[in-house]
Amino acid sequence: MVVFRTDPCGIVCVLITYISVLYADYVVIRHLVMPTLSDTLWGSINALGFNSVLFLLIFSHMRAVLSDPGIIPLPDTDIDFSDIHSGQKKVEKGGDEWTVCMKCETYRPPRAHHCRICRRCIRRMDHHCPWINNCVGEYNQKFFIQFLFYTGLASLYAISLVVVSWILDPMGEKSKEAKHMRIVHTIILVIECIMFGLFVIAIGCDQMQAVLHDETAVEHIQRKGPRKAKRPKISLLADVFGNGPMYTWLCPFYTHPIGPPGPSSTHVV
Ligand SMILES: [Zn+2]
Ligand SMILES: [Zn+2]
Repeated sequence: MVVFRTDPCGIVCVLITYISVLYADYVVIRHLVMPTLSDTLWGSINALGFNSVLFLLIFSHMRAVLSDPGIIPLPDTDIDFSDIHSGQKKVEKGGDEWTVCMKCETYRPPRAHHCRICRRCIRRMDHHCPWINNCVGEYNQKFFIQFLFYTGLASLYAISLVVVSWILDPMGEKSKEAKHMRIVHTIILVIECIMFGLFVIAIGCDQMQAVLHDETAVEHIQRKGPRKAKRPKISLLADVFGNGPMYTWLCPFYTHPIGPPGPSSTHVV
């Protein structure tokens, strides 16, 4: 199922992401690779390498934006919630404790939470992220983490190319104006890379901590008691990245059932 939110803040953030990626690609190719490395095989390899990282960044971002994060379907018929008002807010369903969302007027499985921007309950909702204009939930967290990883990698790659190209040829362009443009664009690129790089490192650390502690950002805020019983890290990672081989975890093209192998694995990411 393809979803797209009409939240103005989310749409602006998605546009900023794509404009920033296009700008970084322009500066790297036009002002770093072409003036200094264009005649060498090394230049071609880096142009191809940098564009491959950007392709994976855009692809994982698009999957995070357009994927269903785990929207709880609305009931076909209205449910009588009169007993809820008398205090019973939890119901047993299939051995798990389901709760009721009064905004969606439906039952929701454990760990699902209501997002006020999506206006729906989302399975294992972590947070609503304007940068992907979508919730980060059970079915798209993998693509969100991949997007963070490739953004960090692209930032590091671009800064490395800045350093290498300035060491190889500090003057670069021949004309004075071209040299000036190169300096201005390189400074903007470095600022962009540091900002996005630090941002994704901070969010990425939070995400990995949430995955390895089996606790979403929503649950972390709501938690009153100690953390839940520990499960093996590999099984927690499989909850997010799917049951495929480990090399597929950072690949946005693969779709594998999520969660530990077994009949409960019903959705693919
Ligand atoms: Zn809801
Ligand atoms: Zn949301």
